This record gives sequence, C-alpha cells and structure tokens, in this order.
Amino acid sequence: MDIKQIIKNSGFHFNKQFGQNFLTDEVLLENICDDAGVDGGAVLEIGAGAGTLTRVLSRRSDRVVAFEIDRDLRPILDVTLSDCDNVKLITGDVMRYSMEQIEGLCGGKYKVVANIPYYLTSPLVMRFVDNATAAQSMTLTVQKEVAERLAARPATKAYGAISVAVQAVADVKLTRILPRNLFYPVPNVDSAVVRITFCRDKFGAVDTALFRKTVRSAFATRRKTLLNCLLSGFGLDRERAAEIIAECGFTPDCRGEQLSVEQFVALCERLKGVQ
Ligand code: SAM
Repeated sequence: MDIKQIIKNSGFHFNKQFGQNFLTDEVLLENICDDAGVDGGAVLEIGAGAGTLTRVLSRRSDRVVAFEIDRDLRPILDVTLSDCDNVKLITGDVMRYSMEQIEGLCGGKYKVVANIPYYLTSPLVMRFVDNATAAQSMTLTVQKEVAERLAARPATKAYGAISVAVQAVADVKLTRILPRNLFYPVPNVDSAVVRITFCRDKFGAVDTALFRKTVRSAFATRRKTLLNCLLSGFGLDRERAAEIIAECGFTPDCRGEQLSVEQFVALCERLKGVQ
C-alpha cells in the first residue's frame, strides 16, 4: 500500500495545527509495536493520521480503538483501514471524551500506542497518569526533548516536575530516537519513542494533591535550595523546614532537582499536616 500516493491522490492538505507528521516506514512501525509489547489485547491509538500505525496495530492486537480529530482524513482512513475489521475509528478530539467513555470503548485493560502532536503531549500524558486506571502502558512517539524529560533521572537538566509526576506511578523508558527525516512531511524537530509502563502502587498510597504541591514547590525555582522552596511553597518557618529536611536525611543545601522520586514521596509524607 503506497500511503504517500493515496494521500496525494486524495488532495489532502496537512494541517500543521494538528501536528500532522506521519510515519510510513513499515519496519519502524513494527519496531514501535515491539517497544509497546503489542501482542493481542486491546490498543488505544490517539491520532490515526493516514492509518499507517493503525494497520500494524490491527494486525498485532485483538482490538484497536483509534481517534482522529481531522475529518478530512476520514476518506483516506476509509481506504487504508478498509480491511481492518477490528478497528473502531472515532472521528473526534480525544480530549473531549471522558476517561470513562474512552475506557468503555476499550473494554477492559488496554495499551496506548500513539504518535502524538507536541501540543497534546503534557495534557494527554497527565490525564492518563491521573485517571486511566485500565491503561497498562503508553508507548508514545513525541518530540525528543519531551521524551527525555519524561524519562529523566534526578540531577539532570531534563529532570523536572513532569518526570517526577509520571515516574511516581510508572516506569519510563526511552526506547528509540527517530530522526526527523523518518516523518512525512519532515518536521523541524527529532522525535523519540518513550514507553510509560504503569505500576500505580510502586510507592504505596500517596496523597496526589500534596505530592503535586511538593514537587511543584521544589521545582518552582530550580536554583533555590529545597529549604527556600519549602518556605515559599508551604509557608513554613526556616527552623521547621530545616527540621523536615533533616528528618528526611537530605543535606541542608540540597535542591529539589537532586531528589529521586522515592525521596519526593518521603518528603511528601513528612509534609502531611504542615500545610
Ligand atoms: N498515527 C499517525 C502516524 O503515526 O503516522 C499520525 C500521527 S500525527 C503525528 C498525529 C495525528 O493526531 C494527526 O493525524 C492529528 O490530526 C491527530 N490529532 C491531533 N490532535 C488530536 C486530538 N486532540 N484527538 C485526536 N487526534 C488528534
């Protein structure tokens, strides 16, 4: 199937606003499904595009639920997915569907596999991190820097609030770098595939609101010490903040970006009741 020719023949105009940079290389698409561990089961694809990834997912899984926001792609998808009986295609914005609706369509446990536009990455990832209880994993093709941020280790430049929020409930691995010339049309940035495997109880029960506040405060000003961040973020006096830091076993001059996710969880526990 010559996807590029089908797109050209259809008179379709790429819409930059929707981040339409498609993957067409069959081997690469198979590799992404390998990274995602797609082997039967249900898969949720966000942004079907011209259906290239959807076709491979259809072959390798029992059921695919695929969202595509752009109505103009429907005639192309009707052609490219004509022999994919296990694909349920939904023309619409995935962000306008509730998590209950999405999970209802998937019917039980599912894996997310998607090549998503830059504008959608953080809101989509955080939505699934917070609410997608039936999602086993998300394997996402995203801008390379974003993938690095999601998978970042403590004390690196890429490590930030989103790294901690995601790694608190999932194991994250950057599985491959995709140079920009693998996409059609070619974008201005390179991409990477990142796999987020949910293990929601890895740190036991954590008060999500307090955890987010702790992490946000710690990263609010990267150059500030954790102690100063706690003063402004939690309105603590210096003595109490120093005590909490000592109780956690951190050095007095440590900075938020040096803490591991586990250490953030420990700090959050100590901050219970002091806000
Ligand atoms: N999966 C295809 C591939 O790999 O070639 C297309 C990937 S392309 C980077 C992203 C796709 O997501 C585009 O087709 C775009 O129209 C669609 N999209 C963007 N925002 C969306 C949203 N909110 N809901 C559903 N689809 C969306």
